Amino acid sequence: MIKINENYLRLQSSYLFTDIAHRVAAFQKANPDQEVIKLGIGDVTRALPGACIEAFHRAVDEMADDGKFRGYGPEQGYAFLRETIARHDFQDRGAAISADEIFISDGAKCDTGNIQEIFGADIRIAVPDPVYPVYVDTNVMAGRAGEFKNGRYEGLYYLDSTRENGFVPAPPQSPVDLIYLCFPNNPTGVAITRDQLKAWVDYAREHRALILFDAAYEAFIRDERLPRSIYEIDGAREVAIEFRSFSKTAGFTGTRCAFTVVPKDCMAYDAVGEKHDLHSLWNRRHCTKFNGVSYPVQRAAEAIYSNEGKLQTRELVDYYLKNAALICSEMTAMGFNCVGGENSPYIWVDGSRDSWEFFDLLLKRAGVVCTPGAGFGKCGQGFIRISAFNHYENVQRAMARIKTAL
Ligand code: PLP
Repeated sequence: MIKINENYLRLQSSYLFTDIAHRVAAFQKANPDQEVIKLGIGDVTRALPGACIEAFHRAVDEMADDGKFRGYGPEQGYAFLRETIARHDFQDRGAAISADEIFISDGAKCDTGNIQEIFGADIRIAVPDPVYPVYVDTNVMAGRAGEFKNGRYEGLYYLDSTRENGFVPAPPQSPVDLIYLCFPNNPTGVAITRDQLKAWVDYAREHRALILFDAAYEAFIRDERLPRSIYEIDGAREVAIEFRSFSKTAGFTGTRCAFTVVPKDCMAYDAVGEKHDLHSLWNRRHCTKFNGVSYPVQRAAEAIYSNEGKLQTRELVDYYLKNAALICSEMTAMGFNCVGGENSPYIWVDGSRDSWEFFDLLLKRAGVVCTPGAGFGKCGQGFIRISAFNHYENVQRAMARIKTAL
């Protein structure tokens, strides 16, 4: 008799985006003439940069030529892309990461979800609250989270991100083994300072723990004092794996390309305390279960780092940051406490009322869709996340409508 992995029964159904979709559909049915402006979901709205499109086309043409055609590529990604990333994203910023420590993939979602496979079943895991749900659900699937009681899994250690700690949790008093950090954060939009990140690296070194650093929104950092990579912090090579994505950097959400950095100094331990390097383990996992990102997509990603590509991606990100600044200033002027939106496409707005109530209010009175903070965890209650991924004119109209409606 075929049996299921019963850990899946412990998953809390993710009602968040389906719930939102149902409420929006019901509203639209009742108000067919009212146009709805969506500032909810974190998907980009603008086309790929020209440099990427040109590289994409050239690579597709190569695939049409028997002499230049490429079949299976290296599972870890082509050297041309790994070397470009290592130089521009790390070495040029003083972070000693080499090309062979970079694993190209089709998404940071898959990588942040899959990475937990290489760790023991009985480790203690710390997750942020509010959280990008993939970190929690993949550990529930693996049987590490325990029972779900009073809105939380008993087996997880929650790192509360609250107004009191500026939405950047400090390392816990008790030891944990695996720590998920995401900065600039989804959903709060808050970035981490060098000192705050150093405290986490020091903690991980002291406790022989590992940090999984999700930097999917790194391209939005404009404050030069902020670290863009955890490897800008001394000692991080031994205790951190970093995830990056081209999804928000260059509009690759539908094109799919990302990468994970696993430094060769990163160690983890077996039952008798013997050291093992995580690079070899992840390489084994990646090569066994993944067959590489398509050649044209990797060429398109490489083009992000050309002079032209750099200018174009900066302009793209600046566009969304301009939206974010407008949302932030307008919501603040309306009397709401807001964080994020400066080095991030997300604005975390304190509604001082139930998240869903605030969501309904904005939908029904202004025809604007946001994301209720409660959907990201207990600490999200009372907040909403507004996303800057839309056209500027739509953001302007959304803000004008909210101002009139509230
Ligand atoms: N990590 C975070 C924090 C995200 O918000 C997202 C997407 O919304 C991802 C990872 C997924 O990135 P990708 O499109 O590369 O799978």
